Amino acid sequence: MKRTALLSLLFFALTANAEKILSPDKLTYVDINLDNGRLSYSAGYRTVVKAKKKGALPDTLDVPMLLNSPLGVYTNVADFSKNLTYLQGKKSEKPIRQTYHLRQGKQSEISTEYNEYYAVYSTPETKRNGVLMRVCFRVFNNNIAYHYKFLQTGETSAIVVNGEASGFRLPTDATAFICPQSDPMIGWKRTKPSYEEGYIWDEPITTRSQYGHGWTFPCLFHEGNKGWVLISETGVTGNYCGSHLSDATPDGLFTIAFPMEGENNGFGSTGAQLGLAGSKVTPHADITGNTPWRTITLGPTLKPIVETTVAWDVVEPLYEPSIEYKGSRNTWSWILWQDASINYDDQIKFIDLAADLGWEGCLIDGGWYENIGREGMEKLFAYCKQKGVSPWVWYNSNGGWNDAPQCARQCMHNSIVRKQEMKWLQKHGVKGIKVDFFAGDKQETMRLYEGLFSDANDYGIQVICHGCTMPRGWERMYPNYCSSEAVLASENLYFSQDFCEMEARHATLHPFVRNTTGSMEYGGTALQRRLHKEPNKGNTRRTSDVFELGTAIAFQSSGQNFALTPRNLTEQPKFEIDFMKQVPTTWDETCFVDGYPGRYIVLARRNGSRWYVCALNGQKQVQNINVTLPMLAGKQVTWLSDGTDGKSPSAQQVTLDKRGTLRADIPGECAVVLY
Ligand code: CA
Repeated sequence: MKRTALLSLLFFALTANAEKILSPDKLTYVDINLDNGRLSYSAGYRTVVKAKKKGALPDTLDVPMLLNSPLGVYTNVADFSKNLTYLQGKKSEKPIRQTYHLRQGKQSEISTEYNEYYAVYSTPETKRNGVLMRVCFRVFNNNIAYHYKFLQTGETSAIVVNGEASGFRLPTDATAFICPQSDPMIGWKRTKPSYEEGYIWDEPITTRSQYGHGWTFPCLFHEGNKGWVLISETGVTGNYCGSHLSDATPDGLFTIAFPMEGENNGFGSTGAQLGLAGSKVTPHADITGNTPWRTITLGPTLKPIVETTVAWDVVEPLYEPSIEYKGSRNTWSWILWQDASINYDDQIKFIDLAADLGWEGCLIDGGWYENIGREGMEKLFAYCKQKGVSPWVWYNSNGGWNDAPQCARQCMHNSIVRKQEMKWLQKHGVKGIKVDFFAGDKQETMRLYEGLFSDANDYGIQVICHGCTMPRGWERMYPNYCSSEAVLASENLYFSQDFCEMEARHATLHPFVRNTTGSMEYGGTALQRRLHKEPNKGNTRRTSDVFELGTAIAFQSSGQNFALTPRNLTEQPKFEIDFMKQVPTTWDETCFVDGYPGRYIVLARRNGSRWYVCALNGQKQVQNINVTLPMLAGKQVTWLSDGTDGKSPSAQQVTLDKRGTLRADIPGECAVVLY
């Protein structure tokens, strides 16, 4: 292995078409290679090997995680996956440092460093059309991002991208935690894909996806003792489509897959229409001609995966916030009281509940237009104002892309009606909207998202998306964007007992996969044992109370629609309600402590000077936890646990030892929370 590394160093020195790019700490690498006109890369991390001879420098050993993987783009003017000629390239001489503030995410003040490399390529068609492709790689410690930029040197200033050769080759013995891409136009009122199918858990990467359309981002892979790889995309705007991963070939190659033709009721292209960057394009040149970033997070442990900020590191804010947007905890009648609760009297009860809990908002869900009406809504808005609660309002994104019947409809699908609606919302103090039933990942739909966010900002309104795709850097790109569902969310607790049986297992998967690359609007923390408006009806929750409280820490979303109901105020132990009264939804720091996807997780998050730690056991059997929490060393904390039977929740004041030891035998589907 060592000799191979040496030989490859010699090889790199001899050819201009091969480059090795290292992260600032020199422990993450990408090898780029142009061979016979075809561009490819491989990537991994490096371990330092002690020198054998005394006094010699230590050597490094490459640990490959992504094997020889293709690069390139298929366009209507040229095939940029073959016959490429290298024209010029540039490598940053020293690491590029950036610091930025992220209002909502895992961390608020972010400081990162990367090394950048780009190279420009022509094709045989360039002589005629003047179009060049530039590939750009940014290599951070444990993170890699790459994208393509198309440059205009002739008359052609617009191209159509039909697909990408961009691939990710894994060793065939790797396993996957991935979610299949659904068929289009199936499910509830033909609203899929909604990016909420059932995962495969630690299964071979060559497993065929349920619908044969591949896998939804983000995708987590386990390479045994070597470690973990997370693959995703970020920076998707109305200038491109969203994508996903294909099924793997028998030799382990996943490639970027574009939307399916049937999405959006078959309307709109599956490709992307792209304006080129050139010397005459001056404003906004940074984002012109770019494809979205393909991102890879890798390392020997799960820590870089859970803590990654790459989705936000490589994007920029696309407009200024019109007001100062803040996190919001909302009550939400629909989750357990369902459609019948979308009436004036029940909404008053949930506005009162928000006021009693000291929460910021109350979400009035689908059906209000018919059942409450605009006049009734204005009365509710006035009542909210009186109680110091901000209203949030549900909308159907339709439009003409599916049959979802809930109202209000035809209010958010184009800019003219949207602005009228938002003017009304702003006038009555509405702080946010939840827009549902989007139509997939075509560029057509990405333009809808972008227009929606941008218009809402003009009226000081935040946006939660439901029945939608995963966000792609949007927390930073669109300052009033709040969160997205794109997960098998809490509504399924009401719909299916089978989902209740799996709730704990799913909850210990999401912080490792779905929630690593974007805010996740799950709508959780149900404290009722029976999940229904009536006391002895509905599905039975299997998780413990402290487990539910812990998910408020584990699931990241700056807007949380929690599943608490008025009954909880009198039925739950006081300490549970006290916890929910003060748990924040925005975080200054996130620290992965221990865990394994779908089994358990110990996660610490900081808000201001206070740390919140959850240890969730997603399994049926007891999980022993023995970790140190340096951030809580020697400190007094409130320690919530479920008792040895898992059914006796209690709160105690405990002072941790000087190492910050957290030792506990956590019963199945139970948790420990420290704060
Ligand atoms: Ca859903």
